[in-house]
Amino acid sequence: MLTYDALIIGFGKAGKTLAGRLADENWNVAMIEKDPNMYGGTCINIACIPTKVLVHDGLKGIPYTDAIERKDRVVEKLREKNYKSLADNENVTIYNSEARFIANKE
Ligand SMILES: Cc1cc2nc3c(=O)[nH]c(=O)nc-3n(C[C@H](O)[C@H](O)[C@H](O)COP(=O)(O)OP(=O)(O)OC[C@H]3O[C@@H](n4cnc5c(N)ncnc54)[C@H](O)[C@@H]3O)c2cc1C
Repeated sequence: MLTYDALIIGFGKAGKTLAGRLADENWNVAMIEKDPNMYGGTCINIACIPTKVLVHDGLKGIPYTDAIERKDRVVEKLREKNYKSLADNENVTIYNSEARFIANKE
């Protein structure tokens, strides 16, 4: 059976920050993210960042389809950067899976 010092559910702002900090303190960490398009979490993939890019480009009069393409490029770059920030850490193992509790403490 695999064992870890910490098992973190969700590669969002909270999860990735905690995973990085614990791994830097030599904890053996498992990070579980259910959606490969969500590495980095809600903010960079579907919330804060994409909305701001679209508002910015809209205010500058950039055509909608061009703005969407730029938004997709920005998000992809950030997602990749976020993924690498943990994937490159030898104390972190990333699982692409949906985590669930099977008992109160398990
Ligand atoms: C439209 C919009 C705009 C926003 N703009 C801003 C802004 O400008 N500034 C700001 O500070 N905040 C903004 N926010 C809020 C910000 O997005 C959240 O505060 C932040 O994403 C919360 O981070 P988190 O790590 O708690 O959760 P999330 O980033 O949501 O991460 C949770 C992760 O867990 C994964 N997950 C969930 N369940 C499981 C499971 N069972 N197994 C495995 N993985 C799982 C999800 O796929 C997700 O990747 C905005 C939110 C929205 C919706």
